[in-house]
Amino acid sequence: MAPDIEQHVHRTAAILSIGDELALGETVNTNSAWIAQRLTNCGVKPVTHVTVDDSLNSIAAIMRELASRVDVVVSSGGLGPTDDDLTRQALAQALGEELVEDEQSLASLQRRFQAIGRELLAANRVQTLRPVSGRCLKNPHGTAPGIAATWREGELKCDFFCLPGPPREMQPMLERLVLPALKPSGDRVIRLRTLHVFGLPESGIPKLLGGLMERGRNPVVGTSAQTGFVTCKIRFEGDPAKADATLDAAEKQVRAALDPFVFGVDDETLASVVSDLLRTRGESVTTAESCTGGLVSMMLTERPGSSDVFVGGWATYSNEFKHGSLDVPLELIEKHGAVSEHVARAMAKGALARSAESEKPANHAISITGVAGPGGGTEEKPVGTVWIARATRGDETEARLFRFSDQRDAIRERSALAALGMLRLKLIGRTDVKLLWEQ
Ligand code: ATP
Repeated sequence: MAPDIEQHVHRTAAILSIGDELALGETVNTNSAWIAQRLTNCGVKPVTHVTVDDSLNSIAAIMRELASRVDVVVSSGGLGPTDDDLTRQALAQALGEELVEDEQSLASLQRRFQAIGRELLAANRVQTLRPVSGRCLKNPHGTAPGIAATWREGELKCDFFCLPGPPREMQPMLERLVLPALKPSGDRVIRLRTLHVFGLPESGIPKLLGGLMERGRNPVVGTSAQTGFVTCKIRFEGDPAKADATLDAAEKQVRAALDPFVFGVDDETLASVVSDLLRTRGESVTTAESCTGGLVSMMLTERPGSSDVFVGGWATYSNEFKHGSLDVPLELIEKHGAVSEHVARAMAKGALARSAESEKPANHAISITGVAGPGGGTEEKPVGTVWIARATRGDETEARLFRFSDQRDAIRERSALAALGMLRLKLIGRTDVKLLWEQ
């Protein structure tokens, strides 16, 4: 199906965010993404996001423009009682209508103010205004009702839903009053499934996926790069009865094409997947971290209930601590440097041996030693040089050299993920596989 045909199958939506603080970047626009996700789940396709400052003419002009392009506009912000809250006036201007006081909203606002012993001021009364043809949407968590209205011009028609800005007011109103009004009549849905990929460059994925990423295809796969990994989103539009089977089949194809680099689905993380693999085998891991200072431990303990697979770890930053805690010989560090294969191996073996002194010895140990920068790099070991080792009880220890090219935060995060990635490869029996950034 060509993309332009596809657009007409669904109702399309624009998300309009109103407020100086958003236009100036003082407030992060979380409403926009949240609204887009909810609309998508309900089969309405967001096609544009617009942010506009508190200027009456600009808001009205953008509303008119959007009305001629999409089926639904959902706005947030600008419904408060102050002079810079201009959404209702702008909507009236865009519709070419007068504003009138909404009797029910006025009565409910009066009751609300009476209950708290406050006088209803003219500024508050402004919040009960709506364009003549519109209707007010109740706001259970605030004083500003929302407004629903329909714009028409010839054959064109667009439904407006104007909601207040504060997320705790806006979200229940969208869920309870807007989405039910938008349920698609033709029983079509948009469903997404996210696969997480670690160890492959994003640029190499389209070739491996072939036609699956072709624009206009249904289901279609899209990729986006995160720090350290890539997400592949499979998007299906159509009959809800076919959604699961279609997504399952597409997931199978993506997994087959990217094997063994797909490590998880939806809200799974590399750490949660490694933990699950360890749990299934009744095994556990310990860590010895230098340049990551405990990041792997943090990732492994992010979810509750990790004590059965993560026994504990060491953040050994100084050479003395590597020696004192993990028995890494100081001569080894002097001879090869703290960032070296020898030291990485010694750290992993030391952690495994030390964990055996406790009542719950670990089965695996992973160690990280590297130059996270910004200083400390040399010609031989530039910033981003990281050695990662894995030691496993009853098995050979392996060490891999990575070269990450980025800033300190990203180098540390990628190092921690690479360590988990190495352990995952061991647990799935694929230590033959090389990861991205590996030398
Ligand atoms: P109020 O009655 O609270 O004034 P309002 O509809 O006029 O409601 P705004 O004044 O535009 O809303 O915004 C109020 C607050 O809501 C902002 O200061 C901000 O904290 C939050 N907010 C507004 N828009 C957004 C957005 N798009 N994303 C996240 N937060 C937002």
